[in-house]
Amino acid sequence: MTTVQTTYPGSFLAGAEHRNATVQAARTAFTTWSELAVSRRGEILGRAAHHVEQHLDELIPLLTREQGKTLRDSRIEITKAIDTLMHYVGLSKALRGAHAPNLDPGVEGYVLRRPLGVVGAIVPWNFPTTLLCNKLAPALIAGNTVVAKPAATTPLTTLRFAELLAQGGLPEGVFGVVTGRGSEAGTALVTHPQVRKIAFTGSTPVGEQIMALAARGTKRVTLELGGSDPMIICDDADLSAAASAASMGRFYNCGQACLAIKRVYVFESVADEVIEAVVAKARRLKVGRGDAPGTQMGPMHTAGGRDEMAAQVSGSVDAGGELLTGGGPPSDPELADGFFHEPTVVLDPPHDSPMAVEEVFGPALPIWRVADLDEAIFRANSSPFALGSSVWTRDLARAREAAQRIEAGYTWINSRTKVYDELPFGGWKSSGYGKEHGIEAFDFYTETKSVVLGAG
Ligand code: NAP
Ligand code: MG
Repeated sequence: MTTVQTTYPGSFLAGAEHRNATVQAARTAFTTWSELAVSRRGEILGRAAHHVEQHLDELIPLLTREQGKTLRDSRIEITKAIDTLMHYVGLSKALRGAHAPNLDPGVEGYVLRRPLGVVGAIVPWNFPTTLLCNKLAPALIAGNTVVAKPAATTPLTTLRFAELLAQGGLPEGVFGVVTGRGSEAGTALVTHPQVRKIAFTGSTPVGEQIMALAARGTKRVTLELGGSDPMIICDDADLSAAASAASMGRFYNCGQACLAIKRVYVFESVADEVIEAVVAKARRLKVGRGDAPGTQMGPMHTAGGRDEMAAQVSGSVDAGGELLTGGGPPSDPELADGFFHEPTVVLDPPHDSPMAVEEVFGPALPIWRVADLDEAIFRANSSPFALGSSVWTRDLARAREAAQRIEAGYTWINSRTKVYDELPFGGWKSSGYGKEHGIEAFDFYTETKSVVLGAG
């Protein structure tokens, strides 16, 4: 786990030999790990998570340095990752199957669960530790072992996290890390004959490639993919709370979140008030280095990501959208060298422009004025993505209608778009396949078997 080659600048690259040894170690560890009592696995993981928690002060700046997010957000992220481990430690007591009495005279059946084997976990750079632990926790408690492939640009926190879990008592091989580029290290994990399942978080195009590759060998997959989450603000909403949620939802982590609010649809009669509030909040956000005191929004993670977003904004403005604020790098000369971008708001870009149809993975928010709930839901559903969604209204009938009709794995009503470990999470349509979080996550890390106890 610790042999890494530094063969390309700015990152670590594991070679084929290291990858195979890591998967082999996970396969070997599976035999003993899967046979432990589930409560024992919970105890071991809980103790290891506690050990990681003792090193928060080291992990937080490490994550900020390699990812760019503020220290405050690194703390929130890593604390949440540890919470998720502990959540599944608690759920270890709830892992069970089912029973069917009297199938025939004297015959009964039961459904048992078995872990899958070695799980490959491939995660992106925007939340390296939470996205990892969403997979690691249910996979390990269910008895699998895991080999993770972090993003090529954020291997450090993951490597240290793994090291701390091992120091905290997680047995050798139960969790390993292979580093390197997706096209090489990621593909190698997907096609490795000893890997039984791939749990992937990342972009839709890569998710589709992985699903196709995993078909050979009939491997299991869960795919947490891109999103373009709509937010609907009705005329009877708490407009100030909704504007805060829009700003927070879009600009958090410099807009680089799958569940960021990426499209706002606001009823025409209250649009001016909401737009004014969102623009004011965008202008007030303090952009700066993640490790500088007072920073509210750090830089974008890569120059490529920043340029891609800038092209989406300019394409949408050129097509007829109105740029209300932002639109480029901040004027502060101290920020000239980083991948900084001002919080940006665009009004009414055409419904076929890039900001409407593509995923915008950065701090730029399009807002559209709509006539009513019907139009808002029609627009919300006219995206290939269907990850999260939110609606703001004081009218129960409207809230229920939106929850029924919006195509998405999550609908928040009068709430910030926060993910709870208690509830299953996962996109519909091009946003993915399968669920993470909730007790439902166990379904994606186990096979069930029906057993019939006959009368003979
Ligand atoms: P990405 O390019 O798909 O990369 C994600 C991970 O897959 C990285 O570790 C990457 O390695 C690896 N990878 C790339 N190509 C691969 C291949 N051919 N085979 C196997 N692995 C491969 O994702 P991204 O664009 O960096 O991340 C942002 C995307 O993730 C957005 O679309 C966002 O919405 C989505 N996301 C979804 C969720 C969710 O829960 N639904 C959560 C967070 C983010 P490299 O680092 O070498 O590229
Ligand atoms: Mg990529």
